[in-house]
Amino acid sequence: MIFKSLIGNEDIKNTLGVAIKNSSFSHAYIIEGPKGSGKHTVARLASAGIMCNKGADIPCGSCITCQKIMHDNCVDVRFYTVSKVDDVREIIAMVYESTTECDYKVIVFNDADKLNPKAQNALLISLEEPPKNVVFFLLCQDAGMLLETIRSRAQILRTKPLDSETIFNHVKKNALASLSDENLMEIIVASQGSLGYVYDMLDGDKSKELIKSRALAKSFVAALLSSDADAVSIASSMFNWQREKVKDTLFLCLIALRDLIVIKKSPNVPLTFFTSHNEAKDISSPHNIKKLLNLKDSIESAIDALAVNASTIGALSSIIANTKKKGR
Ligand SMILES: [Zn+2]
Repeated sequence: MIFKSLIGNEDIKNTLGVAIKNSSFSHAYIIEGPKGSGKHTVARLASAGIMCNKGADIPCGSCITCQKIMHDNCVDVRFYTVSKVDDVREIIAMVYESTTECDYKVIVFNDADKLNPKAQNALLISLEEPPKNVVFFLLCQDAGMLLETIRSRAQILRTKPLDSETIFNHVKKNALASLSDENLMEIIVASQGSLGYVYDMLDGDKSKELIKSRALAKSFVAALLSSDADAVSIASSMFNWQREKVKDTLFLCLIALRDLIVIKKSPNVPLTFFTSHNEAKDISSPHNIKKLLNLKDSIESAIDALAVNASTIGALSSIIANTKKKGR
């Protein structure tokens, strides 16, 4: 099987798999996609596929070359995160040196959309007259930030966010998490399709923090909609928090509210906060759209105020005061 360790992204697997199998790969690829959608994995697997010469699988994943590449330990496959022209010139100078241990050299630019125009122009020369046996990968979230001249000299591939079920099955199949299914689903919904984000959250105690914050945001939104006393009590528990932490929690409240608003019009729409449509419907149904939108506005104003140094007490209190003023 081609690229068996890349989850989802069938189009990319097919395009690169066929190109590698037929040795007809391009000298430059732009891989565009959201954070955590597998851009690095694609670049690594493609590099291994280009270099590996064993077996029917592309790449085989077990030869010394594949192992080195997958562990970022191959001197001929280099990842760079740079933005300035001098850095790019330095990298390009090395491109013309002969390879050390493989038949090809692979140069990967992380966040290529952050290369400034001068740096992009310096890179362009190598894309126009590609050195022999060199393959470039430009990873970015927005290929529109790259010069048209760069885009026209590279093949553009797009990684896509994964659906929740695919991530859930992958994590369960590989026994990557010791969380309950419900808590795992909380992390997956928060990831918005980013397997990289899920991996990051499953590392250490980060998932516990996130699950706690999400639970608090959910309770706060529910209380703001229906119980003054509970809303005041939850807000007070956040008074002494650092401003950034309050802001993050309020952002989670906004995402939850977005679900409560959209589910009124489209009961089966994919949700970005709640793991269960029934739970979202239960919280949303007693309230009209106007009230939900008013709360959304109040929370947005509080986030804006926190951004310009308002106190956490002031910002949280204003949400409660606005909710009261606008009525229930
Ligand atoms: Zn191999």
